[in-house]
Amino acid sequence: MACYFKPLMEKLQNYIDGKLIAPKSNEYFDNYDPASGKVYSLIPDSSIEDVALATAAAKRAFPIWSKMSIQERSDIMLKIASLIEERSEELAAAESRDNGKPLKLASTVDIPRAQANFHFYGTGILHWASESHSMGDLALNYTLREPIGVAGCISPWNLPLYLFSWKIAPALATGNTVVAKPSEVTPYTAYLLSKICIDAGLPDGVLNIVHGTGPKAGAAIIEHDDIPMISFTGGTTTGEWIARAAAPKFKKLSLELGGKNPNIIFADCDFEEMMKTTLRSSFANQGQICLCGSRILVERSIYDRFRTEFVSRVKDLKVGHPSEQVNLGAVVSKPHMEKILSYIEIAKTEGGTVLCGGERVKVAGHEEGYYLAPTVIEGLDQSCRTNQEEIFGPVVTIAPFDSEEEALEMANSTKYGLASSVWTSDLKRAHRVAKDIHAGICWVNCWLLRDLRTPFGGVKSSGVGREGGFEAFDFFTEPKNVCIRY
Ligand code: NDP
Repeated sequence: MACYFKPLMEKLQNYIDGKLIAPKSNEYFDNYDPASGKVYSLIPDSSIEDVALATAAAKRAFPIWSKMSIQERSDIMLKIASLIEERSEELAAAESRDNGKPLKLASTVDIPRAQANFHFYGTGILHWASESHSMGDLALNYTLREPIGVAGCISPWNLPLYLFSWKIAPALATGNTVVAKPSEVTPYTAYLLSKICIDAGLPDGVLNIVHGTGPKAGAAIIEHDDIPMISFTGGTTTGEWIARAAAPKFKKLSLELGGKNPNIIFADCDFEEMMKTTLRSSFANQGQICLCGSRILVERSIYDRFRTEFVSRVKDLKVGHPSEQVNLGAVVSKPHMEKILSYIEIAKTEGGTVLCGGERVKVAGHEEGYYLAPTVIEGLDQSCRTNQEEIFGPVVTIAPFDSEEEALEMANSTKYGLASSVWTSDLKRAHRVAKDIHAGICWVNCWLLRDLRTPFGGVKSSGVGREGGFEAFDFFTEPKNVCIRY
């Protein structure tokens, strides 16, 4: 809803050409605190004009930034990393308030990871090399890897600064300049990052952050002719639109999209370890991580034991205000809460039995907040909507299987293929299942154990391309083969 009469409310600003400025239209919309359901700041409603300004600034900065020595670029990125670390308390509190996630999660995962992204890519670029291909006595080929220009980076609301910086850092390290848009639902830490970049001495125009809605500011980035590459993380439907809009302009695309990840549990697993991790992989960040295992498949011989123990432990999870010691905070927005609740209704009409949760939770003192009880559903076939569509909330289904083949068939039965987990102590089976599962990531006896050097991304409708490690440097550069005859 547009808002013009809240002079005391903090107004976020765009970061364009090194300065914090208002959107051209001077229009703002409300930013909600999901834990209280109240508006607490205002977001610039940026348009095509703001994106044009940002892109022009990024274009002007490109020759300066791309010609700087790698060491100089690295020094500035490491300065940004150290300022993130210095201001981590402020950043974590802001992330928790903006997103509804427990403060503890923001302090231990989101903000350290944002720092690590700048540090990892700021140092990684010092160690990166391109290839050469010798043709014996005849000739030598070598590959030049050059920055491309202005990168468009668009990220979602679930891990705001974590994912925003995951795109921006490799783009900058390789010498590109950036126009970036965080989700309108969680813009605050991106705004704090712009202040950090100013303090770190990032040259004007190298990074530009434009706030606003996806269809307006986001689409303007996708469609801008001076932005030849797009790194996008978000929903599959948005990704489809971006692919359609970018294809005729031959833009380079990296799309990290949705998931409906299987968590396959064999009877021979370490039950306690699996149980502890499965609670996390189901409900961490209120189930709003693209990597959460939302379809739990359990070998029939331990199904009853699993169900009893799991449901009992889920009932013990504490839902409450994110600033307190809780397992689950608020989900990110009212529309998202309503979407999740509507999926629980769909599950019931499809014949599912809600074993626990299934409803909104009223937290004392924060009755308008968007809290949901962690929900476990059973009795559904893998082909139903509940098991095929991404719910992206604290909702999991459980189902038994009888054989490894059946587990794989169930696991691979969706259009998605982002992540998967397998629990077994049989090494050969672990290798077999990891090989045959349709997913970009397979965790064996663990979950969300991340090494930033590894390729990250999905198959099928979960995306196109890979981020992570040097794959990201490859994406943000154009290879050119130079062939020299001796
Ligand atoms: P959306 O696709 O709705 O939005 C993602 C980003 O795209 C936001 O910044 C959004 O802006 C923007 N956007 C929306 N429409 C357009 C458009 N037409 N043109 C350009 N940009 C646009 O996803 P959510 O924010 O709801 O995030 C949840 C989704 O992200 C889930 O599907 C989840 O699985 C996926 N995800 C995937 C990950 C991966 O690595 N594969 C990691 C994390 C999440 P605004 O919000 O302001 O509308």
